[in-house]
Amino acid sequence: MKFPSIGEIATTSVVSIDIDRTIAEAMKMMFNNEHRNLIVRDGNNFRILRVGDILNIKIQNIDLQKSLRELDLAVVQTAHKDKNILQIVDYLNCEIEYICVVNDDGSFYGLVAHADIASSIDPDTLMDNFCLQDFLKLSRRAKWVNKNTKTMDLLQEMIKNDFESVIVIENFKPIGIFTTKDVVRVMKHNEDLELNIGSYMSSPVDTISKDCSMKDALEFLKLKRYKRVVVVDEDGKMSGIITQKELISLSYSRWAMLIKEHHEELSQLNASLLYKNKKYEVMASTDALTGLYNRHKFSELYNSSYLTMEQRGNVMSLMILDIDYFKKINDTFGHGIGDGVLIQISHALLKNLRNIDIICRWGGEEFVVLLPAVDLNQATFLAEKLRESIEIFEIDMVGRVTASFGVTQVNRGDALEAVVERADKALYEAKASGRNCVRANF
Ligand code: GH3
Ligand code: MG
Ligand code: MG
Repeated sequence: MKFPSIGEIATTSVVSIDIDRTIAEAMKMMFNNEHRNLIVRDGNNFRILRVGDILNIKIQNIDLQKSLRELDLAVVQTAHKDKNILQIVDYLNCEIEYICVVNDDGSFYGLVAHADIASSIDPDTLMDNFCLQDFLKLSRRAKWVNKNTKTMDLLQEMIKNDFESVIVIENFKPIGIFTTKDVVRVMKHNEDLELNIGSYMSSPVDTISKDCSMKDALEFLKLKRYKRVVVVDEDGKMSGIITQKELISLSYSRWAMLIKEHHEELSQLNASLLYKNKKYEVMASTDALTGLYNRHKFSELYNSSYLTMEQRGNVMSLMILDIDYFKKINDTFGHGIGDGVLIQISHALLKNLRNIDIICRWGGEEFVVLLPAVDLNQATFLAEKLRESIEIFEIDMVGRVTASFGVTQVNRGDALEAVVERADKALYEAKASGRNCVRANF
């Protein structure tokens, strides 16, 4: 989901006027452009001159040569142009349906109508199954009048109650609509306000069925560029009216919910990925059968241990051991039992090693052990201890097995391969000497 910044959706070519100009100048600007509103610049604040204000000026007979400053014009909320539209959702509750978008220094950048926010909403995220009928139960009833109502009476009522639009009906069926835009038109042409509203309403009026989903309704509004639409029942009788604004507030709260839900889903996903990563890390560094380190990991650990040895001026030794006549075990008991022997020998080795020793399964039935802070004599002694522990170890079903050992001390500049090669030579000697013994090689 991508949420645009408010700057991205702002209209930058906006007519505005300084607050020290006269009411007459402002009205001229409005009427010329048939704007329902005019932005009034007041330093770093922005105000708005609306149709309702113009009507009030007329009714109260206010001198048109007065400056706009003398009117009590509503302040429009401002938002920095980099703000994400989600961050300004709360602004939609504000009675003024515009947001002034400002630059870093607070100067005017552009204007965003609540309707602009609607057009940047992805309707897929809206409630497909929430139909208008359910929605109408929540929203207030629309203002409607009979087509015989006198225009002046309606205008006064619109100002008094701050109605933006009124549906004109006949026999309960909507036949027209009269909005603030029509108010501007009527006043611009100095129309006779004694006539019925039927003469000035916009007609016909588009309607939408109350069985429509909210998603369809919003798409309809976007398509037609309407701010509102009349909802009718199956007989074409008026059920109510929905505005884009109401739909947006509702859908945004639904969005906010979705985001919250997804946030939780995402953190769960994250946690499970972390767990999997750990698992893969373990898998990549250990031998699947015995759980001991594999060659790759051992090589890493050898390198870091070698550095520590150098830094501390220490010694270090390495032993390699190979189970004697292992092939025979496989041949006699089967490969599965052979596997079991490898596992049990691994456990026995671990049990008899020190915590700092590093053991790996080098391959087949061969194991390599790195012995930090141990010289060749001590290593030979440790190897002898291990050899004995294996010799006396009773293995399930198989009984006793033995192993041969080759030991060497790590020299300065030794790469792992060189050390293992030396230890392997010693192991070969041990095998050649009849097995089940330890041999050392400098
Ligand atoms: P020696 O005393 O000379 O070491 O004789 P050996 O039989 O132990 O040596 P050899 O290298 O001839 O045989 C090793 C056997 O280990 C052959 C191979 O099939 C077996 N082997 C290697 N990896 C595994 C394994 O993961 N599981 C099992 N069950 N057997 C394995
Ligand atoms: Mg062997
Ligand atoms: Mg072998």
